[in-house]
Formats: sequence, C-alpha cells, structure tokens
Amino acid sequence: MIVRCVDLRKSYVMGDTVVRALDGVSLAIEPGEWVAIMGPSGSGKSTLLHVLGLLDTPDDGVYELMGRRVSRLAEQDLATLRSRWLGFVFQQFNLLPRMSALENAALPLIYCANGVDPASRPRELLADVGLAERSGHMPNQMSGGQQQRVAIARALMNRPRMILADEPTGNLDSRSQVEILDIFRKLNDRGITVVLVTHEEDVAKQARRIIRMRDGRIVDDAAHPGARASVAPIPAEAAEPPAVAGSRWKLFWRDAREYLRQAVRALSANKVRTGLSVLGILIGVAAVIAMLALGHGAKKSIEERLASMGSNLLVLRPGSLRTHGVMLEAGTVTRFTLEDAEAVRTLARVRRVSPTASGRGQLVYGAANWNTTVSGTLPDYADMRASRPVVGRFFTSAEEQSRMRVAVVGMTIVREIFGPVNPIGEMIKINRVNFQVIGILPEKGATTWRDEDDLVVVPLGTAMKRLFGKEYVDQIDIEVEGPEHMAGVEESVRQTVIRRHRLPPARYDSFQIRNLVQFQETLTETSRTLSALLASIAAISLLVGGIGIMNIMLVSVTERTREIGLRKAIGARPKDILWQFLIEAVAVSIVGGCSGIVLGWLITLGLSHWAGWTAAVAPSAVALAFGFSVAVGVLFGLWPARKAASLKPIDALRYE
Ligand code: ADP
Repeated sequence: MIVRCVDLRKSYVMGDTVVRALDGVSLAIEPGEWVAIMGPSGSGKSTLLHVLGLLDTPDDGVYELMGRRVSRLAEQDLATLRSRWLGFVFQQFNLLPRMSALENAALPLIYCANGVDPASRPRELLADVGLAERSGHMPNQMSGGQQQRVAIARALMNRPRMILADEPTGNLDSRSQVEILDIFRKLNDRGITVVLVTHEEDVAKQARRIIRMRDGRIVDDAAHPGARASVAPIPAEAAEPPAVAGSRWKLFWRDAREYLRQAVRALSANKVRTGLSVLGILIGVAAVIAMLALGHGAKKSIEERLASMGSNLLVLRPGSLRTHGVMLEAGTVTRFTLEDAEAVRTLARVRRVSPTASGRGQLVYGAANWNTTVSGTLPDYADMRASRPVVGRFFTSAEEQSRMRVAVVGMTIVREIFGPVNPIGEMIKINRVNFQVIGILPEKGATTWRDEDDLVVVPLGTAMKRLFGKEYVDQIDIEVEGPEHMAGVEESVRQTVIRRHRLPPARYDSFQIRNLVQFQETLTETSRTLSALLASIAAISLLVGGIGIMNIMLVSVTERTREIGLRKAIGARPKDILWQFLIEAVAVSIVGGCSGIVLGWLITLGLSHWAGWTAAVAPSAVALAFGFSVAVGVLFGLWPARKAASLKPIDALRYE
C-alpha cells in the first residue's frame, strides 16, 4: 500500500465558524493506481491532496506513506520524503519566472539527486514531455500547456513514486488538456501512482478510480467502469531511496556553489534594489576605513609630537603670579638658581638635569630682523628634549663653560632670516651680540599654543651673563630614570625646593612641577577617545547599512513566498531555504564591504593628499571592516532567512 489514511481530520477556524476541510477521511491507495478526487468546490479535495503530499499536516488521524507513519514527522524529514518519493503538479504551474525550462525542470536536483544523473536527466525528461527544443525558453515564452509539461518534467526529476496533481488542466485549453492527460497516462503505465484533483468529469474519467468528496468526507469511492486495467506497479519495498553518493565535503561544495549561483541570479534579477543595499554597506565600510585611518593618523602624529617632547620629564618652574586671583607681590614667586639645579641633580633616580634661562631676543642677519625666543641651556638639553640637530651640531660642555657665543636655531628662523642661505657657520646678532650658528634644531611643528621651531638655543652661561643678565633660571628640566619613578622623584623635588627655599605651607604653590608623562598620557588618552568616537560613528553607518539589507531581504522574502513554497514542495529543507537567503544577504554585504574598502582607501588617500591630514589605512582596519560587514550580512540576513525557512509549505504556496 502506498497510502493509508485513517480518520484524517483538519479544520480551519474562520471567525466564529469552524470549517471542517477534512472530517474523518480514511483511504487506501495501492501502488500503480490512478485516482481522481472529485467534488464541488470547498469539499476538501485540495486539503486532502496537500496532506497526502506532505505539504500540510492533519490535525488528527493516521497517515502512512509507503508503510511509514508520517503524520508527526518534523519539517525537514517531510522535505526529504517529498523530494524522494513525491512529485507535484499545480494548476498554476509554479515555474520560477527567471529560469529557463531546463533550469526549472532541474530545480529538484538542488535539494536531492535521487541517484539520477544531473547532467543528462533534465534534458531527457524535457524530451519525454515533448519539449526537447524548448529547453532554453523562459516560462513567459511558452504556452500554458508547455509550461505544465515543464512542471511535469520537474515533478518527475527524482523518480517519484507518486505524482500529486491539483487541477493540472484547470488553466489549459482542451487540446493541451488532452496532451497533459496523455502524459499522465503514460506515467501511470510505467507504474507511477497518480493522484489527481479535478472537478471535471472528462478528466476524472481517465482515472481508474474516482473518489468523490463532500464537506470534508468521502461520499463515494469506486473503480471507474470504463477504466483501464491495473498496471505493474513499481515495487514499493524499495522504500528507502539510495543514499546520495559523494563525500561530505564534496556535497558541501556542490551545495555552496549552487546556493551562490542562485543568490547571484536572485540578486541580479533586482539590480536597483541590490545596488541600493550594496551602497548602504559600501558607505558604512568606507566610513569605517576612512575614520579608522584618520584616527590612526592622528594617533601617529600625536605620538611623534610626544616623542619630540622628550620622555620621562619633570619640568620645575616658578608658580603662577596669581594665587586665588590675587597678584602676589614681587619676590613671593620662588626663583630657581643653578644651585637648585645642582641640588636636584643629586636626588636619587634623577638621570639628567638641564636648567633653562629664556627671554626674548632680536635677531639680525644682514638686513633681516626677527624677534624670537632665546633659551640658554646645558648640552644635555639636546638629548632630553629630543633636539639633537639634524644639520650641524649642538654646543659642547666646554663651549658652555667658557660662555661661547654659539647658537643652534630652529627651522622657523632658518626660513625667516636665512632663506636659501646655509646658516651653518654664519654670524648673527642676538640682542646686538654676535653669535655663530652651529646647528639647526629638528623640526617639531606647531603645538596649539606656539611654534616650537621659532627658537634659538645658546649655552646657559652665555644667555644668563651676556644676553639677559639674569642670576636665576626660568625652568629646570629633570629627566627621571623611568616612568615608574615619576611620582617619587616629583615628591623629592618638591621637598628639596621647599627645604632650600624655606617655604611656608602658604607658599607651596609658588612653584610648580609639571609631569610630562601625565601630559603625554592625557594626550594619548584623548587621541584614543577620538579614534573610538570616529569608529563608533562609522559603525553606526554600517549598522544603518545592515538594516537596509534586512529591509531588502524582508521584501524579497515576502515577494518570493510562492517561490519558497514551491521549493519546499519539491524537497527543499528549511535549512536549504535559510542558506539561500542568508547567502544572498552575505553576498550583498561582501560586495558592499569590498567596494567600501576600496572607496575608504581612496578617501584616505584623498584626505592625506589634498587636505594634508595624516591618515594611514591599517591592515587591521581593513580586516575589521570586512569582518564587520560580513557579520552585518549574517546578522541582518538571519532574521529574514529564518522567516523564509520557517514558512509552512502550503501557506507559502497559497500566498497571494
Ligand atoms: P476544494 O479544493 O475542494 O475546493 P479545499 O480543500 O481547498 O476545497 O478547502 C476546503 C475548505 O477548507 C473550504 O471551505 C475552504 O474555505 C477551507 N480552507 C482551505 N484552506 C484554508 C485556509 N488556509 N484557511 C481557512 N480555510 C481554509
């Protein structure tokens, strides 16, 4: 027995009324039979056919298909049985519009190749139904009869045991009707069981047995008087179809290729829509790349700036002249002397000390005049402040001690007063004193508050005695042995100053110690915050792109509900549908991601070229953006894909 049903029931609730579509249907069908189900509209014919075809599940009752109880199987097992044992023919043909006749016929092979040769079988079957020369035609290029023949070829693809046809000739003219019924007869002659729903006596007469239904019940079940004799059935005991050959990986690749091909087809069918969702991801990824590159560049330039400040430095200075908004009297500010510097030098964990005395200086070289900052300092300054000249040299200890009139000048000065002349060896006047230029300081760029290159450095003694006539120094740079000792040294410097100057607690704020490490950390922190901010703005745009994908996918699922239903009817498991839609979403996001990377890179190039911003695309940013865009595709594609996968086959097929 191929079909055995006992007391099948199925009802629909419509508002207050309960419609009993199946009201206790019991039925047995032997292999090789040709059964027509007849009855007035609404009598439950289609519902019965759908239950028999595993497209719908009964509320109650027993259904055995080829000896296997199937009324309670999970959807994916039902899908497997549908693909291996059953073939469907619908009134509306249900061909996929953008596929040729051949591709439509071959569709079931995607989900299961039931021991058939995928290369030759579709053509053979099309030839069988008389469409050998139409294999390349699209459904809209074929007549109704031809389309239905393609649908029959499709139903036969996996050597089904039973063909289920729902009004297969309902949409056809009488000539096509005869041809289609002829095909069914031939199939039945070969032993395939045919169950056909119709409301036309002419059609039913072809069958060997007619079941009549009314109000969800079978009211008559009889062999048709004029029916042909029974034919040799396909032995039903070969119930388990052969396992599909090939290793798991091979199968996986075959599936993956097939999914991808379908995704490309579906996406290219809606080019504008696909283009727009690609654009969403593209903008998001380009923004991520460009923003990260900017952040990275900003961080790099801050790091360079920090390195040029010197490392592990404490800077000791007189306090501000104001305390609590009140000007202090002259002399209340602590002034530091060379002796203070020497005292600090002897403290533990202090590596180097360089006091600086600064003032304004009027430079004259030939006819050029320039007012600048002049700093007198010790030779250690060069290394402590990362100021070793790139051209020429710094002054030596001997030159410092003998108060030589030598000067190292910053780039701004070179530009402003020397122009094209090489300054090394030239004589300049600083506040009317002659100096010889011996070196050029490395370029440091401008901080927000001043130009670091507008500076002349001279020996400390020369500055104090010959230029400014000062007895004190303006600041003392203290280099500590390591960042971990900064706090300790800061405290001992504080104590030393308080002791040496006998400061009462009220005047502890008459000097200040700036910790450059803290300052550097703050700067680094700021740049990190900036990068994070930029990245999150970019991430938001990627998110918006993802929502775009989700929207498009949801539309696509709704639009293709019938297609999903058909695919399920010919054996697609929920997993197959899930993958199909997921791969579409991921394909969109990968295409968007790759073009976004290119665009982001171009933007970065443009920014650093025309706007002069420091920006660098890090490989990690590319990887991140790409990974992120794939994740967006998966994440936002998953819901629509799951929605599609979980549709009940019959609901999807009925969807209008
Ligand atoms: P037939 O194929 O004989 O015309 P059907 O099997 O399609 O009849 O339907 C039987 C009854 O069940 C009808 O009254 C129909 O209105 C009802 N019915 C079928 N499907 C649904 C559904 N999805 N929701 C509500 N009622 C339904």
